[in-house]
Amino acid sequence: MSTPLYLAPRLEPRLASLLDEAGFLHELLHALGSPLNVVLPDGIADNVERFKEVYDRHRLAGNIYFAHKANRSSALVRRLAATRAHIDIASLGELQHAMGCGFAPDRIMATGPKNPEFLWLCARSGVTVNVDSADELAQLAALVEKHRLPQARVLLRLSDFDSTGVTVLSRRSRFGTPATAATGLLDLLDKHRESLDLVGVAYHLDTIGPAEKATAFEGCIRVLNECAARGFRPRAVDIGGGFGVDYLAEGAQWEAYTSELTSAVLGRRTPLTWQGHGYGLRNDAGTVRGALGLYPAHRPVSGPRYFDELLAAQGQSLGRPLATLLLENLYDLHVEPGRALVDQCGVALARVLEVRDTPSGETFVRLEMNASDVSLEEHGVLMDPVLVRRPGNGGGSGNDVGTAVGTGGPVGVYLIGNLCLEADFITRRMVYLPERPQAGDLLAFANTAGYFMDFSADHALHQPVARKVAAYQDGADWRWCLDENYWPNHCTGEDC
Ligand SMILES: *Cc1c(COP(=O)(O)O)cnc(C)c1O
Repeated sequence: MSTPLYLAPRLEPRLASLLDEAGFLHELLHALGSPLNVVLPDGIADNVERFKEVYDRHRLAGNIYFAHKANRSSALVRRLAATRAHIDIASLGELQHAMGCGFAPDRIMATGPKNPEFLWLCARSGVTVNVDSADELAQLAALVEKHRLPQARVLLRLSDFDSTGVTVLSRRSRFGTPATAATGLLDLLDKHRESLDLVGVAYHLDTIGPAEKATAFEGCIRVLNECAARGFRPRAVDIGGGFGVDYLAEGAQWEAYTSELTSAVLGRRTPLTWQGHGYGLRNDAGTVRGALGLYPAHRPVSGPRYFDELLAAQGQSLGRPLATLLLENLYDLHVEPGRALVDQCGVALARVLEVRDTPSGETFVRLEMNASDVSLEEHGVLMDPVLVRRPGNGGGSGNDVGTAVGTGGPVGVYLIGNLCLEADFITRRMVYLPERPQAGDLLAFANTAGYFMDFSADHALHQPVARKVAAYQDGADWRWCLDENYWPNHCTGEDC
C-alpha cells in the first residue's frame, strides 16, 4: 500500500478520554444500537468560558448566544442554561425547546425568517427578535399593537454591506435587510416607537474571511450612528457566528493530503477518492482547474482565537480596531457561535458490519450508519474516524467473513453506509486506518456535535435514526444517560 495519508482528528483531553473507554462505548452500542450519538455537555460550558475570556481581555460586555441549530440535543442546551450563556433560536420548536431547558426569555434571541406562530410566541414571551426584513418588523409591530403585548426588543439584521471605495466585497446574503435599506427600517421603527424597542444591529456572515466581517462590522457602526442621530438608543452590535473549528490534530497531514489529492486528480498517483472524485478540482489537459470545495479542516485560528483576532483587526474605513470602536461608543458586543461552542462536544459511533475486498483491489468497510447520520462529507469536512476495537478483536486473526487478511498495518478503505444506494458513501475519499478493522469494531467520528450528527439524519429505508446519550465524568469514571434524561443538577459528576 502507498504511504497512508491520515487526517487525524484533534482531540482534547475529555474527548480523548472517552474514546479510550472501548468497553464503555461498546456497551453503549450494544444497549442502544448503531448508529449512536454521544454528546459531552461539560464541553459546552468550557467553550463558553473560553469565549468569556476573550470578552474580558478586550474589556467588552455583551452576550454569547449559542446558535441552537448546530445540534438538537437537550443535554447540551440544559447544560448551557446552567452557564452565563444566552441562546439563539431559529424556529418555533427551538424556542419551545430552549424555554423548556431552562432559558428564560431574556436570555433568548430569535434569528432567521419567522412564520406568524413563531413571531407570536417571541412577542408574547418577550424574547429578543433579530428582525430579518422590513416585512417582519411591520408584522411584529402589528402583533404587539393588536394584542397589547409588551414592547418588543428588536435587533436589525443587516446584509450586503456597501463597500464602495474599499477592496473588500461583501457577499450577498438571502437573509437580513440590505444595509443601504436601513433607513426604511428606521422609518418603520419611528412609526412604532411605543411597540418596538431598538436594542441593536446585527449581521451573520457564513464566511471565514475576517476582512469581510470587519466591513460588515463597520457598516453596523455607521447604521448605529444614524440611529443615534434619529433619537434611537441602540446599545449593541451582534456579529453573528462563523468562528469555526479546528478539526485536525496536525497541519502537516492536511497539507500532505491536499497536495496528494491534487496529484491524484492529475492522474500522477493512485486514486484517493471513489471514481476519481476531485472535491471541486478537475484535470484540464494536465492542469488542475476549479477550487477545492472543502472546509479548511486544519484551522488553528478558529473559535475563541478567531474571535480574539477579529476584535484586534482594523476595518478599512474607520481606521481603528473593532474592539476600540465598541469601547469608544460603549456598545455591547453579541456573538452567535454555533459550531465553535460545541467544539469537542460529541462523537458519532457506528458498528462495523463487514470488511470486504473487491476483485479490483479496493477494501470496503460497511457501517451500520449512513451518510446522513454523519454528514461530514456534505459539509466538506475531511477527518478520519477513530477505530475502537471490540474488546478481543484485533491481533491479526482476521475473523471477518470471506477474507483471510490479517489486521496488521495501515489500510486504505472506503466507508460505505447501510442504504441500498450506490451513492451511500460515508465519505467518497479513501480513509486510512492504522489497522484493518473487523466486524464488531466501532468507528468513532469525533467532534461531530456541530451540524454533523443530527442536522440531516432521517429515516430513509426505515433505518433507525441514532439515539443520543449524554456522557459525563464522575471522578475517574465515565457515566451516561439518555440525552432527554440529562439535567445539570444531577449529572455534573459532583452530586449524582
Ligand atoms: C447558523 C447561524 C449561526 C451559527 O453559525 P456557526 O457557523 O455555526 O457559528 C449564527 N447566527 C445565525 C443567524 C445563523 O443562522
